[in-house]
Amino acid sequence: MSSTLLWSRDLVTAGTVLFQRALDSLDDAALTEPTALEGWTRAHVVAHVAANAEALVNLATWARTGVETPMYASPEQRGSDIEKGAVKPAAELREWFCDSAAGLDKALGALDGECWTRLVRTAQGRTVPATEVPWMRTREVMVHAVDLDGGVGFDDLPTDFLIEVLHDAAAKRSRGADGPAVVLVSTDPTDTVDGTPRSTAWPVVGVGEAVQVRGPLAQLAAYITGRDHTGLTTDGGTLPGLPRWL
Ligand code: ZN
Repeated sequence: MSSTLLWSRDLVTAGTVLFQRALDSLDDAALTEPTALEGWTRAHVVAHVAANAEALVNLATWARTGVETPMYASPEQRGSDIEKGAVKPAAELREWFCDSAAGLDKALGALDGECWTRLVRTAQGRTVPATEVPWMRTREVMVHAVDLDGGVGFDDLPTDFLIEVLHDAAAKRSRGADGPAVVLVSTDPTDTVDGTPRSTAWPVVGVGEAVQVRGPLAQLAAYITGRDHTGLTTDGGTLPGLPRWL
């Protein structure tokens, strides 16, 4: 397994632990309370993350067998699975999260060198090598661990993840180029990877003159994913709002 792949599978594990920590901190009644995600209770978030693991098992199966196995049968199925899952008894919902995460770990563990290079299709219709599947999972467990509002915040997420999600979200928003143009600038101390300084600015292509948004990595990541953030400053312009991503 390549070092990148090992790294991304480690991040899946770290994100799963954080999601579990947030979930364990909440009692059953708290699961029925609303989140900052429009129309979703915490139970919806858990159901979505559990269903996501099962959908990614489909992609792992596709990569292993070469037989086309989409994440979801349809967008409607994706939505109805979340709605049905959200009304499950709390104990069942908690078990679903654990079992589905373990199932995905097992399915990814069954892939060998050649399988990882096979092309699969995401729910958004992008064709990607199977090596991208661990990262797709990492984004979901990390960001939704924060959405659970159970004591895990963006500050608790690993720096490697924050940097990667800034790259990924900036690239995604730049491809659409239909939101505000911004440049995200980290005010965290610069560090290096193998002697090379890490990137500390992420331009987002969009509408209008780019506004520079400065702050700690964790808060920039919260901002770029459309979540609540604090302590960000701009170069004079107003901080443009961004829609939710993930
Ligand atoms: Zn999601």
